[in-house]
Amino acid sequence: MDKYEEFMALTSQTIGILKDMSKRSPYDMASDGMARKTAKSFTTLADALFGPTDSPRLQRESVALAEERGLSLEYLEMVEKHAKKLKKRGAAWRLRAELIAFEGTFEEVEAYAKKRVMEKGGDKPKQRGVRLGRVVDGLRTISITYTQRRIADLEKTLDAAIKDDDQPRSAALLEPFWDLVEGTGTGLIKPEYRTVIAIGLDDFAKVSCGKGEDVIVALSDGTTMTSTEFINAAMAGSLGDKLYVGLFHPTAGPVNLYEARFASEKLRTLAMAENLVCPWPDCNGPADRCQVHHIDAHKHGGHTKPSNLTMLCKYHNGVNDDDGPRKKRKRPSPGKPKRGRMRRHRGKVRLHAPGGKLVGNTHHVSSMGAMDLL
Ligand SMILES: [Zn+2]
Repeated sequence: MDKYEEFMALTSQTIGILKDMSKRSPYDMASDGMARKTAKSFTTLADALFGPTDSPRLQRESVALAEERGLSLEYLEMVEKHAKKLKKRGAAWRLRAELIAFEGTFEEVEAYAKKRVMEKGGDKPKQRGVRLGRVVDGLRTISITYTQRRIADLEKTLDAAIKDDDQPRSAALLEPFWDLVEGTGTGLIKPEYRTVIAIGLDDFAKVSCGKGEDVIVALSDGTTMTSTEFINAAMAGSLGDKLYVGLFHPTAGPVNLYEARFASEKLRTLAMAENLVCPWPDCNGPADRCQVHHIDAHKHGGHTKPSNLTMLCKYHNGVNDDDGPRKKRKRPSPGKPKRGRMRRHRGKVRLHAPGGKLVGNTHHVSSMGAMDLL
C-alpha cells in the first residue's frame, strides 16, 4: 500500500473517527495541534451524527449505513451542509438518510441534494439588488443581482465594445462599462439571439401553439428563457431571421457529414446547440464565447464533421491533451499528469480523465443541451 492508498483507507473510517471526536471538546483537539476552526467543524458534524436528535431511529440507521459504505469526511460534510438548511421537524434527518443511501458520485449526490433542499424550501432565492463592498486597499467592488436576461444583455453590450482583446476579460470589460455608465458608449444594445436555442421537438410543439405550462429552454449564452420570453423574443424579431434546427441521434451524436478545415457557421451552430456551455466538467463558459474544438485533432486525421466537433472555452481548448491516449489506459503515466482530453462516448462529449474515467459537465444549462433532450 502506498501513502495515497493508506490515506484512502483511512478516509473510509470517517464514522469511527467522528465517533471518537464526539467524545472530545474542540479545544482539546485544538491543543493537539488542529486549527480551532477545523476542530469545531468536526465536533459540529459529530454532534449531528451522534448527538441528541428529533429522529433517533433514522439517525442510528443512517450512521450505520454511512459506516458500512465507508463514506468519506468530505461526503458527510457535504450531506451536513445541505441537510442543516431544513428546519422542519425530522426534515434534516430524512434528507441525511436519503443522501447517505444515494448511489452516485460525489457530484451527483451534491446536485441531488441541492435540488431536494430547493424543493423543501431550505434555500432562499437570491435577492435582486446592487451591493457595494467596503474599501480594500483603495479599491471597492460593486455587484449586481438581477434577471439573467438583463445581465446577459449587459454582458453582451460590454463584450461587443471590448477594444483590447489581449488583457484578461474582467480588465477588458472595465472601459466599456464606464463608457456605458457615463453615456459615452453606444448605450445598451438589445442583442439578437443568434445564440442557439436547444429545444426538444415535443416542447417546440407546445411552445409554438402556446399551450400548456411554461417550458424552459436553454441558450448557448449560458442562460435560460421561459417559452413566454421565447415567443416574445420571436415577435420582437430578436431571434434573427433564421431558426437553427440541429438533428441529433441518441447514440451517434450530431448527424450530418461535412469535410472542411474550418468549422463552418452551420457546424459551429450545431456544436453550440449540443452542449450550450463548455462540456469540460465544472466549467461555466457559455458556448457563445467558446471555440470550436476537434475531438480527434485535425493533425491526427480528425475530420471536420459534426460528431468530431464540440465547443470548448478558450482555456480548456488550450489544456486539452490533443496527443493523449485514444485507448483506455489503466494508470496514468508517471510524472506530472496531463489534464485529459475530450471524447465522444455513447454520443455525448465527456472528459476522458488521465486515469481513464469519463466525466461530463453537470452545469444546469449543459444538461438542457440538445443531446440531453433526447
Ligand atoms: Zn471550459
